[in-house]
Amino acid sequence: MKIGVGIAALSALAAEGKDFDRAELNAMLDKLAASPEPKSAILMMMATCYVRAMPRPVGFEYVCKKCGTHTVYPKNEKQMANVLARRRDEAASLKALGLDIALDETVLCQKCKSAEELGLPTAGTIVKRPDKGSEAEKFAWHIGDKVRITEAYDSGWCRVLPASSNAWVSAEYISEKGNILGDGVRIRLAPSLDATVLGSLYKAHPPLKLLPARPDDPVGWVCVEWPPKGRPCWGYSVRSRFLGDLSYDEKDFVAPCRIDKLAWIINGKRVVVNDDDAKILKAFLTGEKTIEDRFGGKTSLKGELRRLRKLLEPGESDPLIGPVDTVEDVVDTVEDVKVEVDI
Ligand SMILES: [Zn+2]
Repeated sequence: MKIGVGIAALSALAAEGKDFDRAELNAMLDKLAASPEPKSAILMMMATCYVRAMPRPVGFEYVCKKCGTHTVYPKNEKQMANVLARRRDEAASLKALGLDIALDETVLCQKCKSAEELGLPTAGTIVKRPDKGSEAEKFAWHIGDKVRITEAYDSGWCRVLPASSNAWVSAEYISEKGNILGDGVRIRLAPSLDATVLGSLYKAHPPLKLLPARPDDPVGWVCVEWPPKGRPCWGYSVRSRFLGDLSYDEKDFVAPCRIDKLAWIINGKRVVVNDDDAKILKAFLTGEKTIEDRFGGKTSLKGELRRLRKLLEPGESDPLIGPVDTVEDVVDTVEDVKVEVDI
């Protein structure tokens, strides 16, 4: 049986720097669509030679290839440096096979792509509280509270901070100069005993900076700056579904989920990268009939025909604004509750 489009022939083409043109790609896609599933096939492993075991850096600094701007990601939540290196290698190796492909990295540059352009809104509001149970008791926020989202996790949790630097202390416990007058004095998000507690201070704490009261503040409360300068504030973990928007304040925290928006430019069309794209493209271009699945087994390349068509056929580019991160809330048990204060 003759396998695929002829590995030897294609390898020879690749070796002499042959570029696949539109007609060739279309013919190859049609041929794959019409081909029978292979009974058995010899699997050629992709030559992946990027470094996997890099020590995980604290942050990640991206230098834009287009405009030279440095974008600093304070956290490397999604192993951004590794992912980027891998995608660059993949693009280079596919290009070497003759495919017209480039990696669009501009999504990592704050100057080239704003949070708004990428569909990362910049304001979050609490829209819902847990209904009942221990989750409701521990929930520190109120509907309408404005928050800044500093991190979002795939598990459906976000870490949030109050949107403003205002906090309130009962006037009984703070002097006119901002000194704390008791132990365990609570600093709150709003001038009310029901309001979220942002921190608890003791007498020895350096004086807080007093801020002017708002016109509608109730008597008996003093407005202060929070957190005090130099005091880290990690915020709270809340479920994303309690927030109106999944959003990031990119002034202080550049969203690591930007890495999920890397895109291929193939024959001029922009397609957001999927993890297995390089594997299936390489198999396709070299005439393989099977690819290795995540568990080390083999699956038919034909099963990836839809994705191959999406990648290789002419059509609309993927829009810049797409779904924002993956925050599907799959776990919904009371045991999973994790409203925490660690300031
Ligand atoms: Zn740039």
